[in-house]
Amino acid sequence: MSVLGATFRPSPLLLLTSKQFGTFGAYPDGDKVVRSGRGGIVVHDVVVIGGGAAGLSAALVLARSCRQVVLIDSGEPRNMAAETTHGFLTRDGVAPEQLLATGGAEVRRYGAQVLADRVVDIAAVDGCFSVETETGAVVVARAVVVATGLRDELPAIPGVREQWGKGVLHCPYCHGYEVRDAPLAVLGGANRAFSVHQASLVRQWSDDVLFFPQEIVLSADERLRLSTRNVHVVEGEVNRVVAHDGRLDGVELASGQLITRTAVFVGPRFTRSTLPGPTSPHCATRTPTWWCPSRTSIDSSRNAHASSPKSWAVPVRSG
Ligand SMILES: Cc1cc2nc3c(=O)[nH]c(=O)nc-3n(C[C@H](O)[C@H](O)[C@H](O)COP(=O)(O)OP(=O)(O)OC[C@H]3O[C@@H](n4cnc5c(N)ncnc54)[C@H](O)[C@@H]3O)c2cc1C
Repeated sequence: MSVLGATFRPSPLLLLTSKQFGTFGAYPDGDKVVRSGRGGIVVHDVVVIGGGAAGLSAALVLARSCRQVVLIDSGEPRNMAAETTHGFLTRDGVAPEQLLATGGAEVRRYGAQVLADRVVDIAAVDGCFSVETETGAVVVARAVVVATGLRDELPAIPGVREQWGKGVLHCPYCHGYEVRDAPLAVLGGANRAFSVHQASLVRQWSDDVLFFPQEIVLSADERLRLSTRNVHVVEGEVNRVVAHDGRLDGVELASGQLITRTAVFVGPRFTRSTLPGPTSPHCATRTPTWWCPSRTSIDSSRNAHASSPKSWAVPVRSG
């Protein structure tokens, strides 16, 4: 899938548009590298990996800084399950794919290339990065921006995945307004801190909030805080999330009781994207120190800069 408008599967030849870099002799996978007709290797200024809001923003500013930019995106933005995006100034209510298509057109206007492909390996060689894709293309660049976002690991409750982004939500700032004043549920899950906070937070949008802690054992302080906020705690296992014709009905308890709700909030576990990590053979053996840390994807101990001065990760908020 491509949501960035007229993206294309890259032919290696399409990558031969940037500067030539003739002295690249030590590159260990030389056969795979995109070469120009004269035998030199094309070196772009920057490869941006990931074409969501973060990657497109980075690509736009870099392209407007007269950098030769290649953006590679596998077409799976985090919010693809949602029908609309909210709270993004000037674009409130647009479909996520529309937002990205507009962004894609903007970066192309300044000469950036947008490739619909998945990065499967990255290696650092001679002060540059070699980025390899699923289709076998290799792009060489002086710098890499990692903007691959994060993935939401949803609670394994039947019905949650089917309703994700519709009747099952996680961010009240994004979609709370649309279900304001309605009966809401918050399901506790593996992301304990997030779930307990969410139960309290969601109360801002409705005075009818039920919290199903499930495996979470609440402390006395937490119970007091929730009751002070007028959030009702319902013990017992949630069997499934029930929906008909695409619309959420509510949650069904193990007892079979259906509790009618307009929307259910869950706390996904936020995990890194599919970009190969430091365990990749290339990264482990050739580039032990370059890997980009990111709050959400790679190394949460540092932010934004990699140990290599020429690679960056774009932190994203988890909302
Ligand atoms: C259901 C839902 C609804 C949301 N609604 C809103 C909202 O209304 N308002 C709001 O502000 N925020 C909302 N968010 C949050 C928003 O989606 C994220 O903040 C935003 O998507 C982060 O942008 P990003 O560019 O960092 O990551 P993403 O949008 O996830 O983009 C990352 C991109 O990198 C690509 N990628 C990953 N790995 C590779 C690889 N190896 N090679 C190439 N490409 C790769 C992916 O395909 C993807 O296109 C919502 C989130 C969810 C889950």
